[in-house]
Amino acid sequence: MFKLSKKIIELPPYLFLEIDKAKRKARAEGRDIIDFGIGDPDQPTPKHIIEALYQAAQDPANHRYALDQGMLSLRRAIEGWYKRRFDINLNPDTEIIPLIGSKEGIAHFPVAFLNDGDYTLVPDPCYPPYKGGTILAGGTPYLMPLLESNDFLPDLKKVPLSIRKKAKIIYINYPNNPTGATADKSFYKEVVKFAKENKLIVVSDLAYSEMSYDGYRPPSFLEVEGARDVAVEFHSLSKTYNMTGWRVGWACGNPELVSALEKVKSNVDSGIFSALQLAGIAALEGPQDHISRMCAIYQERRNVLVKGLDALGWQARLNKATFYVWIKLPKNTDSVKFSAHILGKADIVVTPGVGFGKYGEGYIRMALTVPEPRINEALERLKKLK
Ligand SMILES: *Cc1c(COP(=O)(O)O)cnc(C)c1O
Repeated sequence: MFKLSKKIIELPPYLFLEIDKAKRKARAEGRDIIDFGIGDPDQPTPKHIIEALYQAAQDPANHRYALDQGMLSLRRAIEGWYKRRFDINLNPDTEIIPLIGSKEGIAHFPVAFLNDGDYTLVPDPCYPPYKGGTILAGGTPYLMPLLESNDFLPDLKKVPLSIRKKAKIIYINYPNNPTGATADKSFYKEVVKFAKENKLIVVSDLAYSEMSYDGYRPPSFLEVEGARDVAVEFHSLSKTYNMTGWRVGWACGNPELVSALEKVKSNVDSGIFSALQLAGIAALEGPQDHISRMCAIYQERRNVLVKGLDALGWQARLNKATFYVWIKLPKNTDSVKFSAHILGKADIVVTPGVGFGKYGEGYIRMALTVPEPRINEALERLKKLK
């Protein structure tokens, strides 16, 4: 009866539908499912952050509308965190905007810059809101394949001139979801040059900067010379502090880009619950020791899983960051069918690569959000499959 908008019809289909349905059915049948599908930390939020929320929630001053641009004290905490972590100076008044989770900001950002017919350059496979946000803003995503042969970095030279002319935004996300790949500053320098030559805005998604292994420390895009002329960086408390459900993130970088996003948001939401903002300050300024413990847990799980899969003859990458293992399937294997097969036969949930875009076909993603004994159990089940 109601006619959907062209934009909504254009949004990519939700490809995890089949697996989700099969997973629910298996659970309802009482089967013992081991779920490597969800990129959501299994550890709880540190206690001092929960305590800060609890305290702040009691204060009636925090029950009213928050300011759209976020509390100055939170913006200062973000400023301090960027300074300590990356030695980057940000102006809390003009270069930082808190978000209701970074996904919210990533999805809203293109509204500020795209007109109908404009393009964005989107890595594929990718975190879905780059495409979704582009389409909802009336734009068209141009897909830059992330191929193993190029270490899952986009090959900027391959973007056709005709597309560069119509493009406004390029998205980069390292450490990368779903491939787990990382980028160094030499790649970032290339992106800055490419963006300046083609008058592009760079959106850098740094959600996984604190989830890294073997001594590796991911850089911020903003560390590279000239980056702040062209870039906005999105970050979030979700993965670093086990706070995915809380919805606190931020964007920072070029002040024109930050203020344009602020303008969009002031028309859409009315700020983050003040008690959550105060809890966010507690996260950023409180003890950070849980981060190294968290990374040690994921690193050990990664080692166990990748070694076990290796022994089974699977091609799994030993990534230096993120809690994802990206696994190449045998040639011409359909990732959705493969995922359905191991759910059906071994009660193990994985994510088909094609769900992140067409260049993810031929791969599956496994999230390290499963305790070690269960990883071993999963490996035993997979061994019996053969
Ligand atoms: C998890 C994740 C985020 C964080 O999203 P929030 O909305 O802040 O929870 C951002 N980008 C990527 C690529 C992610 O995987």
